[in-house]
This record gives sequence, structure tokens and C-alpha cells, in this order.
Amino acid sequence: MVAEILCVGTELLLGEVVNTNSAYIAKGLAANGISVFHHQVVGDNPKRLAQSVKEAFSRSDILILTGGLGPTFDDLTKETIAEYFGLEMEMHQPSLKRLEEFFAHYNKQMTENNKKQAMMPKGAVVFENENGTAPGLAVTGGGKTAVLMPGPPREMMPMFDNQVLPYLAQDSELVFVSKNVHVFGLGESYVEDRLKDYMLSCTNPTIAPYAKTGEMYLRVTASADTKEHAEALLSPVIEHLYSEIGDHIYGVDVPNMQTAVIQQLTEKSLKIATAESCTGGLISKLLTDVPGASAAFDGGVCTYSNDMKEKLLGVSHETLAAYGAVSEQTAKEMADGVRKLFSADFGLATTGIAGPDGGTAEKPVGLVYVGVATGDSVQAHKLLLKRNYKNPRDFIREYASMHALSFILEALKAQA
Ligand code: ATP
Ligand code: MG
Repeated sequence: MVAEILCVGTELLLGEVVNTNSAYIAKGLAANGISVFHHQVVGDNPKRLAQSVKEAFSRSDILILTGGLGPTFDDLTKETIAEYFGLEMEMHQPSLKRLEEFFAHYNKQMTENNKKQAMMPKGAVVFENENGTAPGLAVTGGGKTAVLMPGPPREMMPMFDNQVLPYLAQDSELVFVSKNVHVFGLGESYVEDRLKDYMLSCTNPTIAPYAKTGEMYLRVTASADTKEHAEALLSPVIEHLYSEIGDHIYGVDVPNMQTAVIQQLTEKSLKIATAESCTGGLISKLLTDVPGASAAFDGGVCTYSNDMKEKLLGVSHETLAAYGAVSEQTAKEMADGVRKLFSADFGLATTGIAGPDGGTAEKPVGLVYVGVATGDSVQAHKLLLKRNYKNPRDFIREYASMHALSFILEALKAQA
């Protein structure tokens, strides 16, 4: 089954509104194993819309449209689709009743053109709109299906998830199961390049790479007659991915790296403490974003000045004088100090130059040392984070925090 997305609205063509509907729908379809080969955007013009619909159905089985379901004269999507399928428009009584109730509830006068929203092509399946007045609908004919949803994302998204996806799934005898394999420290293009032949050779499951801020994930989707069979198809593929890039996989179906860190520490009854300089508490923020973090995290300190690094963490005056705050030695002493201060199993420390100023040739902006202390060893990792031109400071702090968390996962792996 091949689907196509067609978003209607002149404001989209002009760039006044960003087409977030396309992205949202595309993701949902992909997660349900429905292929999408084309997206289109067209203005509020019935002729060009009809042309786009024709073109879409020449190559796709399902067409998902958003926009142009409103009450005004330029909202013509429904009429255009009815014409394509050769269907008459008729009043859909349950929708009319809902509209009347809606207007009565808000004490508003219902005008004649509002009623247009309850007019439906004959035989359409109607989707109620929980967040607005324009219902959605689906019509089928000649092996083709058109799904129409309102343009406003807050109306479209729940309708799509709760009504349209189940509607599309009922036509399929297959069950789709997806797992997301999360990767950190390897770029999307590197992973794609390395796994290209393997990914192309996989047809069931399929493997699709996605970029996420600072990381990437591979979505592996299998289809079969039952959920169990689909899951059985997924296992060897995920194992293969581990054998290829396992060092960089931080979890399967985990929402983010901080969750993986907290989960793994909790499973092993281990605790972590943080000493942050350039990340200013971001790591402890990320850790405490995870519900149940208290099982693995008692706390951390933000030691921004040299003085506080000495006083709170016991970093030696000589170290700071000889090597400076941004150094391997300081990172190690911070990590060791905070581990002891909190009687934790792991001490994690960051010290670096987040910019935009303050860099030198020897210590450029983006230089960060991450200290990792365990009961047995203290290590420092050197990072040279490339500057993101828009906001180097945020970028460096966020990336340093993510790298720091990844070093804890590495240390946990090494212990196992
Ligand atoms: P309404 O009843 O609000 O007129 P409609 O179904 O006719 O709904 P449109 O008039 O096409 O929808 O769009 C209404 C608003 O929804 C747009 O001004 C825009 O803010 C938002 N919108 C429409 N399409 C998209 C899209 N593809 N992505 C993001 N937002 C969109
Ligand atoms: Mg409109």
C-alpha cells in the first residue's frame, strides 16, 4: 500500500505557515508500515487541487489530505474529492447535530455556511472532530482511498492518531511492529553508509535511519500475521545491528540517553553524582527529567569557579594553577571529588569552554573534558565539539552533557 500526503493551503505555499502536518502524518504512516513516496502542497485553488489529486492517484493508493475543510468559500477540498470519485454531496445528519450542539454550547449563532461542514460525499466514513467544527472523512472507490482532515494541527493530530490510523489498519491483514534502535556518537550519514547494503537487503523487517538532535535512531519495522511473528522477525535484525555498531547503541525503545543511564544504574543498584562546570547543571537536569531518578541520583554540584572546585570537590590548588580549570587533571579530580562527597559509585564531571568567547589556540571554544570516576579508576575524556553557528554555547553544553552520559553507559558496559 502506497500513500501520498497532500496539504492544501495558500499560506503553506507562501511559507507563512510551516507544513508540520506532512511531517506528523508521514511519521505515523511509516510507523504503521505504510510507504510514502510523495508529498504535495497546493494552494486553495480548485483547479490545481483537482490536478494534484489526479496526479496523486495515478501513483498512490491512499491520499491523505489536510486543510480546506472549513466553512468558507475557499475551503473546497471535500467538493473536489467528491467530484473525483463521482459522488454527490449530502447532509450528514449526525455531523449537523454535533455542529448545532457546538454552536449552542458556545452560545454562538450558526450561519448557513457553517452547515457546509456537515455536508459529506455520499457513503463517506466520517471522523468526529474533538477539537473543532470540521469533521474529517474518508471515501473509497476504484481501489483508491482519500482521507480528509482539517488543517489546524491540534484538530488533525488526535483525529489522525485515534481515528484515521485505526481506519487504515483495518484494511490490512498484517500486523506491524516497530522497534527504535538508538545510536549516539555516530552520524546518520556514517551509519547509513556503513549499513547501506544491509539496509537495502532487508525488506521485512525494513530499516530506516532517522536523525534526532545530537543522535540518531534506526527504526526497524516488521510485518506478519501476528504480533509474535513480527517480533520474531525483528530479533535477528536487531542482533545484527548490535554486532555492527553495538558500541554506539544506547538502547532499544528508550526515550533518551538519560533514561538509559538511570535505568541501567537502577538495575545494578548503583548511584551517580555530578560535578558540573561548563554544563552548569544541565546533566543533573537531564537525569532528574527521568521519573524515578532518585533511585540512582542523590545529587550533584555546580562548581563554576576555581574556588568552589577546590572547596567543595577538593580539587588541588596546584592542579588548577599548573593545568588550569579546563584540563584533564581538573576533570579527573572533580569526578573523584564528587564521587567521594556523595559516596556514589560514579562521579561524572565536566569542565570546558562553552564560548562564544574565552577560547585560545591551545584551548579553543568547544574543548571539554569529561571526568569519570569509579571506585577503581578515574579517567578523563577530551571532547572537541564543533561549533554550531547559531548558538555555540547551547550546542556545546548540550553535546557535552550527552557525551558525558554516554561515557557513563560505556563505563557500565565495561563493568559488566
Ligand atoms: P478551518 O476550519 O480552521 O478553516 P481548514 O480545514 O479549512 O480549517 P485551513 O483553512 O486550510 O484548514 O487551515 C487552517 C489553519 O491550520 C492554517 O491557517 C494553519 O495555521 C493551519 N494549517 C493548515 N494546514 C497546515 C499544515 N499542513 N501544517 C501546519 N499547519 C497547518
Ligand atoms: Mg479554512
